Amino acid sequence: MVKENPIPSKSKRPLIVMKFGGTSVGSAERMKNVAEIVADHAQRAEVAVVVSAMGGVTDMLIRAATQASQGDREQWKNVRRELAHRHREVADQLLKAAEQAIVLPRLADAVTDFENLCSGFSLVREVTPRAMDTLSSLGEVMSAQLVAAILRSRGTPAEAVDATELIVTDDNFGSATPLFEETHAQTRQRLAGLRRRGVVPVITGFRGATRQGVCTTLGRGGSDYSGTIVGGALDADEVWIWTDVDGVMTADPRLVPGARILPEISYPEAIELSFFGAKVLHHKTIQPVMKKKIPVWIKNSFNPTCPGTCIVPSANSSQRGVKAITSVSKAAIITLSGKDALSFPRLAAKTFNALSLEDIPTLMVTQSSADNVLCFAVHEADVRRVKAQLEKSFELEMLHDYMVAIEVMSHVAIVVAIGEDMKGTPGIAGRAFGVLGRHGISIIAIAQGSSELSISFAVKSADVKESVKVIHEEFKL
Ligand code: ASP
Ligand code: MG
Repeated sequence: MVKENPIPSKSKRPLIVMKFGGTSVGSAERMKNVAEIVADHAQRAEVAVVVSAMGGVTDMLIRAATQASQGDREQWKNVRRELAHRHREVADQLLKAAEQAIVLPRLADAVTDFENLCSGFSLVREVTPRAMDTLSSLGEVMSAQLVAAILRSRGTPAEAVDATELIVTDDNFGSATPLFEETHAQTRQRLAGLRRRGVVPVITGFRGATRQGVCTTLGRGGSDYSGTIVGGALDADEVWIWTDVDGVMTADPRLVPGARILPEISYPEAIELSFFGAKVLHHKTIQPVMKKKIPVWIKNSFNPTCPGTCIVPSANSSQRGVKAITSVSKAAIITLSGKDALSFPRLAAKTFNALSLEDIPTLMVTQSSADNVLCFAVHEADVRRVKAQLEKSFELEMLHDYMVAIEVMSHVAIVVAIGEDMKGTPGIAGRAFGVLGRHGISIIAIAQGSSELSISFAVKSADVKESVKVIHEEFKL
């Protein structure tokens, strides 16, 4: 029996999983830059790559499918042309003939899948979530083929790998959850041969598959999540998320020009930030690496020498108090008030049960038991679904006049101050109130998590920019 070489030992070569986002692979030039980064690091470390679709491609695919399902037989044909053209252009510019001979037929297969699916959708005038997942993640299939081929043609052994062979998920199409144990086993097994031979796997982000092998997706922006799922499965030393900004910032620089990069934040802070609107990270990204305490770096592929932000298991920085301010600018506050016959626990139970039926996230929750009032904030985009569910759940109460009302207040923003070290630092809420008050900004509602990781304020949408700015100034971020 031939004894295979062991996978390179970790003590010699650390394993880094590098995920590149849509802008980082958005053109031939950008893909070339990715290949340079990977080739450079592959000299010192073992690298596994996860890629997003080229920027804008996923949107384009979803739009085409939607239009096709409305019976439109023309629009998707334009998308087909653009899809073929954008990827073909990269191959033309960067690949030698021999590589083109391998890759072009694979790109063509993806385009044929697109065509067959869309023509089906337009015939039956329907697109199911399941079919949408297969279609919407074709961009990743194409970009992975290209990046692997570019690496090979520059002398770095690489192979495209479809994540449907690695990531096993449930069948919640559109936002599937990985089954971690199976994913770990499958990922390790499928990649072992490549790793042994020193071949860089270039894995499709965003997609996975059910146990039966049906393609699923992890939700929009889910390639970050793919990166840490693969990192966790392979027990990577680090996961690097390459994006188009220098790291996680103290605030959105469009709201606060003086915002700066945070060199380090903790897992809980990153989770909180991504939940409350920071676009830099998909909100589930940290979860797969938590147990193994794998550091996650956010880096800028447009500025690769900038160190970026390191997301570490717990905060050990010297900065006390507030670390960053984030905001959700399009939110609404829902207020439910019950009459005495409807006890507060029952009011709350029925409300959250209604929200759970569609898994609608709340941004903040406050209550007044004495008045039997429950108040919570949701994303503006969820308001219609929330109202419909609540009206259904409380139909009887409303009919019998137990319930006073369901009120919706729109044009609300939630401003959130985040920092693990706020715990035990007195006066933070007071200072934040004070500064908002001095600037004439009235607070609609307040909530502080018992973990003291964040304090949230609801303000009018029109006040969001000013609120973030003055709190940022107050805490000298
Ligand atoms: N391409 C997918 C999206 O645009 C996944 C990702 O880029 O993270 O949502
Ligand atoms: Mg992203």
